[in-house]
Amino acid sequence: MQCNETDTAREQWLALAVAGSGTGIWDRNVVTGEIRYSAGWKAILGYDDDELTTRIEDAYERLHPDDRDYVQAAMRDHFEGRTESYEVEHRIRCKDGRYKWICSRGKVTSRDSEGRALRMVGTTTDITSIREMAERLRETVGLITNLTNEVPGLVFQCSRQPDGRMAFPYVSAGIADIYELAPETVARNAACIEALVHPEDLETYRASFVQSAASLAPWHLEYRVCLPKQGLRWRQGDAKPQRLPDGSTVWHGFITDITERKRIESELQELATTDGLTRLPNRRHFMSCLEAHFAYLRRTNGLPAAVLMFDLDNFKAINDRWGHAVGDEALRHFAGILQMELRTADMAGRLGGEEFAVLLTLADAAGACLVGQRIQRRLASQLLSHGRETIPLTVSIGVTELRMDDADSEAALSRSDQALYCAKKNGRNRIECA
Ligand code: GH3
Ligand code: MG
Ligand code: MG
Repeated sequence: MQCNETDTAREQWLALAVAGSGTGIWDRNVVTGEIRYSAGWKAILGYDDDELTTRIEDAYERLHPDDRDYVQAAMRDHFEGRTESYEVEHRIRCKDGRYKWICSRGKVTSRDSEGRALRMVGTTTDITSIREMAERLRETVGLITNLTNEVPGLVFQCSRQPDGRMAFPYVSAGIADIYELAPETVARNAACIEALVHPEDLETYRASFVQSAASLAPWHLEYRVCLPKQGLRWRQGDAKPQRLPDGSTVWHGFITDITERKRIESELQELATTDGLTRLPNRRHFMSCLEAHFAYLRRTNGLPAAVLMFDLDNFKAINDRWGHAVGDEALRHFAGILQMELRTADMAGRLGGEEFAVLLTLADAAGACLVGQRIQRRLASQLLSHGRETIPLTVSIGVTELRMDDADSEAALSRSDQALYCAKKNGRNRIECA
């Protein structure tokens, strides 16, 4: 090596300067194949300053066998002028036999008249801990990705700008199921999600984010989506909002499929409110609807409404003569007639046994009597037969109006019951008013 004393001193000074930084320096004579290392370089590999040979063959021998080819190729590229400088990351064997990851950077500092490399200097940095950290980070990211992708439903990060624009910068693989979309479709603009939300739920969907952003209260919503493949489905979303310094809001949360739960809920709701035999509202449901309508009329002060109570005449005799199953058939027959004669705003219910009731909206007692007569006429004309026999069916009816000075809707119902009692007493198949 052709170094004078000043060069050597400068190199030693430089070596000292970089020694503490975990970086070592090397100086290679390309012609003689001699390579010198700073003390810091040797320290990285666990050698003392007086250890290690200066032969380049020994240097290559310390490279990890899997890395040797590409390190040498990178070196050749630089020698032959195809790269500005030499830079590779590779493993190198330490004194104790273990391998460390290093980053080696260098540059040819002199060439002969034909461009052949004569001398090259460079640095070596220990990047083992950075590589380990990067590896741990990769593992963590991999773990999170796996977790979020395996969780049923959609795990997301969603952002909303102060001007209302929304985006889902992170979504798990569940978006394919929840919205039948690809992650990149919603990464910058979530308008395509709004296009999938059921039109009747869209306003609530938008308002729920506006409210959560304004109050920073958790976002919670049950809503319907209409998807190209799955059709109508129910979704439930839950997320926690955070306000960012730029005024935007970011939520982290998840969305799940609750279609099955909604189906069961509506079945339970149906079971709890419907009479199994006639499919009409049961007594409890009828009474709560009647009470709700009564409260509504009180608030809005008063359009008329009437209650009719029905009791099939001599029904016991039908059961006795044709059996219980025919009795059931007669109850269904009558329920069907009630529904045919009512408008959608009206409501019929089975109070129990062979007793039914109807709430007529926008009708006074006289109007209710007309409806009662229509029902009686249809019952007389639309006969129920059993084999060759006709089941004789007539009904007695009690009518009353909802009065705003009644204590509650029960009062009206009991008045119509009294009227019904009169109808029975006065000979059946009649209508009486109270
Ligand atoms: P009235 O003209 O005075 O109303 O005489 P009725 O025979 O209709 O009255 P009553 O109250 O004596 O008898 C009602 C009968 O209705 C008795 C009961 O067995 C029958 N019933 C009650 N619920 C059902 C039901 O769900 N199915 C059938 N088939 N019969 C029922
Ligand atoms: Mg009865
Ligand atoms: Mg009866």
